[in-house]
Amino acid sequence: MAAAVNHRPDRSRRALLQGRLRARPLLRPPWALDESLFVDACTGCNACVAACPEAVLLAGEGGLPEFDPARGECTFCGDCASACRESAFGPLSDPPWTLRAQVGDACLAARGIVCSSCRDACGESAIRFPPTRTVPMPQVDADRCTGCGACVQGCPATAISLAPLVAEMPVEA
Ligand code: SF4
Ligand code: SF4
Ligand code: SF4
Repeated sequence: MAAAVNHRPDRSRRALLQGRLRARPLLRPPWALDESLFVDACTGCNACVAACPEAVLLAGEGGLPEFDPARGECTFCGDCASACRESAFGPLSDPPWTLRAQVGDACLAARGIVCSSCRDACGESAIRFPPTRTVPMPQVDADRCTGCGACVQGCPATAISLAPLVAEMPVEA
Protein backbone atom coordinates (compact mmCIF):
# COMPACT_ATOMS: atom_id res chain seq x y z
CA MET A 1 0.00 0.00 0.00
CA ALA A 2 1.33 3.47 -0.87
CA ALA A 3 2.36 5.63 2.06
CA ALA A 4 0.17 8.63 2.82
CA VAL A 5 1.58 11.88 1.48
CA ASN A 6 2.09 14.61 4.06
CA HIS A 7 1.22 17.94 2.45
CA ARG A 8 2.02 20.00 5.52
CA PRO A 9 4.97 22.40 5.22
CA ASP A 10 7.91 21.26 7.37
CA ARG A 11 8.86 23.08 10.58
CA SER A 12 11.97 24.72 9.15
CA ARG A 13 9.95 26.21 6.33
CA ARG A 14 7.36 27.47 8.79
CA ALA A 15 10.10 29.13 10.86
CA LEU A 16 11.53 30.69 7.72
CA LEU A 17 8.13 31.97 6.71
CA GLN A 18 7.46 33.40 10.15
CA GLY A 19 10.87 35.10 10.20
CA ARG A 20 10.21 36.70 6.84
CA LEU A 21 6.75 37.71 7.89
CA ARG A 22 8.13 39.84 10.68
CA ALA A 23 10.02 41.88 8.10
CA ARG A 24 7.29 41.94 5.46
CA PRO A 25 3.76 41.28 6.69
CA LEU A 26 1.74 39.18 4.27
CA LEU A 27 -1.96 39.64 3.72
CA ARG A 28 -3.76 36.39 4.48
CA PRO A 29 -7.33 35.62 3.43
CA PRO A 30 -10.12 37.15 5.52
CA TRP A 31 -10.88 35.34 8.79
CA ALA A 32 -7.46 33.67 8.71
CA LEU A 33 -6.18 32.85 12.19
CA ASP A 34 -3.29 34.83 13.65
CA GLU A 35 -0.18 34.22 11.58
CA SER A 36 1.58 31.59 13.69
CA LEU A 37 -1.64 29.59 14.16
CA PHE A 38 -2.48 29.96 10.49
CA VAL A 39 0.91 28.76 9.31
CA ASP A 40 0.65 25.78 11.67
CA ALA A 41 -2.84 24.81 10.51
CA CYS A 42 -2.55 25.46 6.78
CA THR A 43 -1.42 22.62 4.54
CA GLY A 44 -1.13 24.78 1.44
CA CYS A 45 -3.87 22.83 -0.31
CA ASN A 46 -5.14 26.13 -1.73
CA ALA A 47 -8.78 25.06 -1.71
CA CYS A 48 -9.47 28.57 -0.44
CA VAL A 49 -7.73 30.10 -3.44
CA ALA A 50 -9.79 27.99 -5.83
CA ALA A 51 -13.01 28.86 -3.99
CA CYS A 52 -12.63 32.63 -4.24
CA PRO A 53 -15.09 33.95 -6.86
CA GLU A 54 -13.19 37.23 -7.06
CA ALA A 55 -9.80 35.56 -7.74
CA VAL A 56 -8.14 37.83 -5.20
CA LEU A 57 -6.33 34.99 -3.43
CA LEU A 58 -3.18 33.34 -4.72
CA ALA A 59 -0.75 30.66 -3.65
CA GLY A 60 1.99 32.86 -2.27
CA GLU A 61 5.29 32.36 -0.52
CA GLY A 62 5.76 28.75 0.54
CA GLY A 63 2.58 27.82 -1.31
CA LEU A 64 0.38 29.35 1.39
CA PRO A 65 -2.59 31.53 0.44
CA GLU A 66 -2.34 35.30 0.34
CA PHE A 67 -4.76 38.10 -0.44
CA ASP A 68 -3.58 40.36 -3.26
CA PRO A 69 -5.67 43.56 -3.41
CA ALA A 70 -3.96 44.48 -6.68
CA ARG A 71 -6.18 41.77 -8.19
CA GLY A 72 -9.38 43.31 -6.95
CA GLU A 73 -11.73 43.63 -4.03
CA CYS A 74 -12.68 41.11 -1.36
CA THR A 75 -16.46 40.97 -1.09
CA PHE A 76 -16.35 39.06 2.22
CA CYS A 77 -18.46 36.26 0.81
CA GLY A 78 -16.67 33.77 3.10
CA ASP A 79 -16.23 31.11 0.42
CA CYS A 80 -12.51 30.83 1.18
CA ALA A 81 -13.07 30.13 4.86
CA SER A 82 -15.87 27.69 4.11
CA ALA A 83 -13.64 25.73 1.73
CA CYS A 84 -10.93 25.10 4.34
CA ARG A 85 -10.87 21.67 5.98
CA GLU A 86 -7.95 22.42 8.28
CA SER A 87 -9.29 24.90 10.87
CA ALA A 88 -7.07 27.67 9.50
CA PHE A 89 -9.92 30.22 9.66
CA GLY A 90 -11.89 31.69 12.52
CA PRO A 91 -15.70 31.85 12.59
CA LEU A 92 -17.42 33.95 9.93
CA SER A 93 -19.31 35.72 12.69
CA ASP A 94 -16.03 37.38 13.74
CA PRO A 95 -14.62 40.46 11.96
CA PRO A 96 -12.71 39.22 8.88
CA TRP A 97 -9.50 41.10 9.69
CA THR A 98 -8.18 44.41 10.95
CA LEU A 99 -6.81 45.55 7.58
CA ARG A 100 -7.31 49.19 6.68
CA ALA A 101 -6.26 51.23 3.67
CA GLN A 102 -3.38 53.65 3.99
CA VAL A 103 -2.28 56.26 1.48
CA GLY A 104 1.43 56.46 0.73
CA ASP A 105 3.77 59.11 -0.59
CA ALA A 106 3.14 58.17 -4.22
CA CYS A 107 -0.36 59.68 -4.03
CA LEU A 108 -0.83 62.07 -6.96
CA ALA A 109 -2.43 64.67 -4.71
CA ALA A 110 0.81 64.86 -2.74
CA ARG A 111 2.46 65.97 -5.98
CA GLY A 112 -0.15 68.60 -6.69
CA ILE A 113 -2.22 66.54 -9.13
CA VAL A 114 -5.97 66.43 -8.55
CA CYS A 115 -7.21 62.84 -8.32
CA SER A 116 -10.10 61.14 -6.54
CA SER A 117 -9.96 57.64 -8.03
CA CYS A 118 -9.67 55.98 -4.63
CA ARG A 119 -12.78 57.73 -3.36
CA ASP A 120 -14.65 56.70 -6.47
CA ALA A 121 -13.61 53.06 -5.96
CA CYS A 122 -14.68 52.89 -2.33
CA GLY A 123 -18.17 51.53 -1.79
CA GLU A 124 -17.98 52.33 1.91
CA SER A 125 -17.47 56.09 1.54
CA ALA A 126 -14.39 55.66 3.70
CA ILE A 127 -12.17 58.07 1.76
CA ARG A 128 -12.67 61.79 2.08
CA PHE A 129 -10.88 64.84 0.78
CA PRO A 130 -11.03 67.55 3.43
CA PRO A 131 -11.17 71.01 1.83
CA THR A 132 -7.86 72.82 1.59
CA ARG A 133 -6.41 75.78 -0.29
CA THR A 134 -4.09 73.43 -2.15
CA VAL A 135 -4.83 70.07 -3.78
CA PRO A 136 -6.87 68.03 -1.26
CA MET A 137 -5.30 64.84 0.08
CA PRO A 138 -7.29 61.63 0.64
CA GLN A 139 -7.94 60.62 4.21
CA VAL A 140 -9.10 57.15 5.19
CA ASP A 141 -11.78 56.85 7.85
CA ALA A 142 -10.64 53.73 9.71
CA ASP A 143 -14.08 53.30 11.25
CA ARG A 144 -15.68 52.94 7.83
CA CYS A 145 -12.87 51.14 6.00
CA THR A 146 -13.31 47.37 5.74
CA GLY A 147 -9.92 46.69 4.16
CA CYS A 148 -11.67 45.33 1.08
CA GLY A 149 -8.90 46.63 -1.19
CA ALA A 150 -11.06 48.16 -3.92
CA CYS A 151 -9.14 51.41 -3.64
CA VAL A 152 -5.80 49.62 -4.09
CA GLN A 153 -6.67 48.57 -7.60
CA GLY A 154 -8.41 51.88 -8.23
CA CYS A 155 -5.35 54.04 -7.56
CA PRO A 156 -3.48 54.99 -10.74
CA ALA A 157 -0.31 55.71 -8.76
CA THR A 158 -0.20 52.45 -6.76
CA ALA A 159 -0.16 54.64 -3.67
CA ILE A 160 -2.56 52.68 -1.47
CA SER A 161 -1.71 49.64 0.60
CA LEU A 162 -3.48 47.64 3.29
CA ALA A 163 -2.09 47.14 6.76
CA PRO A 164 -3.44 45.82 10.06
CA LEU A 165 -5.01 48.45 12.24
CA VAL A 166 -2.64 49.29 15.09
CA ALA A 167 -4.39 49.86 18.40
CA GLU A 168 -3.68 53.27 19.87
CA MET A 169 -1.67 53.17 23.09
CA PRO A 170 -3.29 54.92 26.06
CA VAL A 171 -1.68 58.28 26.79
CA GLU A 172 -0.34 58.54 30.33
CA ALA A 173 -1.36 61.63 32.30
S1 SF4 B 1 -8.05 25.83 2.36
FE1 SF4 B 1 -7.18 25.97 4.43
S2 SF4 B 1 -5.48 24.48 4.46
FE2 SF4 B 1 -6.00 24.85 2.29
S3 SF4 B 1 -4.59 26.53 1.68
FE3 SF4 B 1 -6.53 27.51 2.34
S4 SF4 B 1 -6.15 27.99 4.51
FE4 SF4 B 1 -4.59 26.48 3.92
S1 SF4 C 1 -14.29 36.29 1.33
FE1 SF4 C 1 -14.91 35.71 -0.75
S2 SF4 C 1 -14.14 37.37 -2.05
FE2 SF4 C 1 -13.06 37.53 -0.09
S3 SF4 C 1 -11.16 36.36 -0.36
FE3 SF4 C 1 -12.67 34.95 0.55
S4 SF4 C 1 -13.63 33.93 -1.18
FE4 SF4 C 1 -12.57 35.75 -2.00
S1 SF4 D 1 -10.05 49.29 1.58
FE1 SF4 D 1 -12.18 49.26 0.78
S2 SF4 D 1 -13.41 50.25 2.41
FE2 SF4 D 1 -11.24 50.75 2.81
S3 SF4 D 1 -10.91 52.75 1.83
FE3 SF4 D 1 -10.30 51.16 0.33
S4 SF4 D 1 -12.15 50.77 -0.91
FE4 SF4 D 1 -12.81 51.88 0.94
